[in-house]
Amino acid sequence: MQIYDVIVVGAGPSGSTAARIAAKNGLEVLLLDQKAFPREKVCGGYLSCKTLRLLAEPLPDKVVEQSIYGVRLYDGHYRFIQKKEPGLLGVTVRRDQFDQHLVQEAVRAGAQFISPLKVRYVQPVEGFQKVHVYTADGMLAAKKVIVAEGANGVVAQRAGLQKKWRKWQWGFTLTTVIKGGQRAAEQAVPYVELYCIPFLGGFGWAFPLRDGYNIGVGSWACQAHALYRYVTPFLAQVCRLKNIGQEAPRFQGSYMPAGGFPRKLGSRSVLLTGDCGGFVDPFSGEGIYYGIRSGEIAASEVVKSMVKGDYDAGANYRKRCKQAFYYDFYCSLAKALRSGTKRSICAGTPKADRFLADIMHIMKNPKAYRMHNSS
Ligand SMILES: Cc1cc2nc3c(=O)[nH]c(=O)nc-3n(C[C@H](O)[C@H](O)[C@H](O)COP(=O)(O)OP(=O)(O)OC[C@H]3O[C@@H](n4cnc5c(N)ncnc54)[C@H](O)[C@@H]3O)c2cc1C
Repeated sequence: MQIYDVIVVGAGPSGSTAARIAAKNGLEVLLLDQKAFPREKVCGGYLSCKTLRLLAEPLPDKVVEQSIYGVRLYDGHYRFIQKKEPGLLGVTVRRDQFDQHLVQEAVRAGAQFISPLKVRYVQPVEGFQKVHVYTADGMLAAKKVIVAEGANGVVAQRAGLQKKWRKWQWGFTLTTVIKGGQRAAEQAVPYVELYCIPFLGGFGWAFPLRDGYNIGVGSWACQAHALYRYVTPFLAQVCRLKNIGQEAPRFQGSYMPAGGFPRKLGSRSVLLTGDCGGFVDPFSGEGIYYGIRSGEIAASEVVKSMVKGDYDAGANYRKRCKQAFYYDFYCSLAKALRSGTKRSICAGTPKADRFLADIMHIMKNPKAYRMHNSS
């Protein structure tokens, strides 16, 4: 049986990045996803500046929906509060196209990609020298496995590498895509819109796409039922502001992990990255940056372990992730809890100004929370 250097489970941004970097460093890499690509992924599709800087190459035009140059903030009554236009803040993408692009980059670097193929279980054997990967189509083997199965995967749990997370360690979101409205490209400054909704740590958004908007609300998972009731009037109000007719919207609900809680990140030979490791900023909801960055770190540790015989890739991965994200996640979690329902953010208050400044600072800077000007 062929033994791969590394098998990557899940071809989201985290898995594809890990596969690309490992393949680029000469490893024999197999990337697997349970869905046929390109596949849909529920997401706002906003890539911040700091995420763009992590990408191997600039995104092709066909992947970018809209470049973003500003943020507009609305209060809990849908009244415009304030805007900031500080220059490029990121881009919006459709996740099927973006993720497909990252997979293609991994394949170009030399990774083998198979989809759809569902992984059921992974099992380290021979004292962590090898890992058996049980798929819907039989067993595969690798020296190391990177599990990047996203927030709802069960592979890490089944292998005893991850505990079931508690409800309060999750966020919950509802999103839809609405076509129409004034195209953001036609506006003087294409911007994202944030709405202060009356939910603990939550906010609503409208992100411009080429031919419409990605609109959604998110908060802590314990408020999921209330969010379901809230989202229809929310959408109606946002569409009214934008003068778009809403044709029977279909909302997609999805959970996302909130970073900042202690979680397992795998073992010596199986490394958990991206959402699977719980890497989502609980204040901003940004996860793609952390998915890509943790995929990079995991791949570089796996590469090192191939060179140095007795190298504990898992331990070093955990250490580097802690250094890279944990302090920021703790601060972000504290900020998400402290920010309450954002009811008090309204026009003419310093809070609105500070909130916008913080959001932009976080979009731009990888270590935003440990820098002085983030409050
Ligand atoms: C509604 C919503 C809006 C969001 N908006 C934003 C945003 O605007 N910007 C941002 O930065 N982040 C956003 N996020 C977070 C972001 O989507 C995630 O953090 C990011 O997708 C994590 O990437 P990943 O590679 O870890 O996992 P995923 O992108 O979830 O990819 C995991 C992959 O693993 C595959 N898989 C799962 N199980 C198996 C299996 N058993 N075998 C094989 N394959 C498997 C899945 O099919 C999937 O393709 C949002 C999240 C939600 C829910």
